[in-house]
Amino acid sequence: MRCPKCGTENSPGRTLCVRCSTRLRTAAGVGAAVPDTGEVLMPRLRADLLRLVVVTAVVVAAAAALGTLLR
Ligand SMILES: [Zn+2]
Repeated sequence: MRCPKCGTENSPGRTLCVRCSTRLRTAAGVGAAVPDTGEVLMPRLRADLLRLVVVTAVVVAAAAALGTLLR
């Protein structure tokens, strides 16, 4: 596991760099990072879903309006 700060190669089990004591990415760190990305990702997904619903509703409404106008 390479230190992101000083580039020193540390053994995989280490949580801190042997040279500069920078916190290294560990299995626990990766596990902790997953809920973070999930929390960031979920509202984005929800916004995308909402946008899709709105666009679909607008298209359906426009098609319905066109159908009514052409009839
Ligand atoms: Zn380091």
